[in-house]
Amino acid sequence: MLTVEEALEQILSRVRPLPTERVPLMAALGRALAEPIVSPREIPPWANSSMDGYAVRAGDTAGTPARLAVVGTITAGVMPSRGIGAGEAMRIFTGAPLPGGADAVIPQEDTDSADGHVLLKAAVAPGAYVRPRGEDLRVGDVVLQPGTALGPAEIGVLATVGATQVSVHRRPRVAILSTGNELAELGHEPGPAQIPNTNSYSLFAQVLEAGADPLNLGIAADRLESIDERLRWGGAADVLLSSAGVSVGDLDLVRAALTRAGAELHLWKVSMRPGKPITFGSVGGRPVFGLPGNPVSAMVTFELFVRPALRRMAGFRGIHRARLHARALTPIPNPGARRGYLRVTLARDTHGWGARLTGDQGSAILTSMVRADGLAVVPGDTTIALDEHVEVIAFRTLTQETV
Ligand code: AMP
Ligand code: MG
Repeated sequence: MLTVEEALEQILSRVRPLPTERVPLMAALGRALAEPIVSPREIPPWANSSMDGYAVRAGDTAGTPARLAVVGTITAGVMPSRGIGAGEAMRIFTGAPLPGGADAVIPQEDTDSADGHVLLKAAVAPGAYVRPRGEDLRVGDVVLQPGTALGPAEIGVLATVGATQVSVHRRPRVAILSTGNELAELGHEPGPAQIPNTNSYSLFAQVLEAGADPLNLGIAADRLESIDERLRWGGAADVLLSSAGVSVGDLDLVRAALTRAGAELHLWKVSMRPGKPITFGSVGGRPVFGLPGNPVSAMVTFELFVRPALRRMAGFRGIHRARLHARALTPIPNPGARRGYLRVTLARDTHGWGARLTGDQGSAILTSMVRADGLAVVPGDTTIALDEHVEVIAFRTLTQETV
């Protein structure tokens, strides 16, 4: 039996980042950057004011209340036509370039104005309310490294350095196949011996959320020809992802179809719960995953094995979820010998994060995934006692603080 780490290492050693393409900036959101981005610009391009007020020489403001002659006005978008000398000030607005000779800004609320002069109610230090040239970016700065996930802040920085197009990795296309005679497709009322097809949809969503591009191959009946046909539909995909049909009973149908298609497959027993054996291999150089059929097992094995592989293929440097340590708010038992990945809700109080089981941990209880904020990692035959700490793989952005 393999450990989760051994299985993941074998998978990751067989996947590579996909080729790159240049895309318009706004098509790059959520993708992995494939080139270093070097700033050709100083940002800001010149020292400018961070307040509405008066540009001054700090040395002139010491003798409070100082009285300075106002020699002009500078608004954003206009370069000052002249500098200031001793005893002079210029009206200035936020974002406007500082005039030569000035080294500070005094905010408007600290001044009074009278007949072409400004009276300062306070002194200012050199540099006050001034944003120096290049304080954010210098020419030649490497602002983003390859492998960076492009989120809103990165998109903003790319626009700032003038990147109309960027090189990103291609998103892996993932063909998703469900198998089973008992499955009814979404939009069709399940017949007397049928259950709804869940996995095609939870996996589709997980693929999207991982930064890859899902393709739904629908449901194959438990017949070789049916599986063959659907697999052909997925011929253009980079990854094949099937669920169910890999346990002992009907094991050989998905595997047989893939093997006939030239796949080299490994059936691994991985020491984890939930999750029966998982199948991993390749067909024509493309990775193939056969996940267990129970909806929770499919989702958890996707999390642990497929998601990191897809993120590696998509070119991301960070391929793993964040892990945190949480205090057990109730005992968290893992009675089996296999390592447990147990669904927990997370809550924050003054002591930090706390974790609580979502309830029944059956691998067909999908509603317990709905309640889960993450998976507590519990060694086999171990109970995390009340108040003891446990490692949790956090799979949502936790925005709500509850007690
Ligand atoms: P199997 O591995 O084919 O024996 O499936 C294991 C369990 O998962 C069975 O109870 C199946 O009915 C269930 N199952 C398989 N595929 C799906 C699916 N796409 N959606 C919901 N449940 C499924
Ligand atoms: Mg089945």
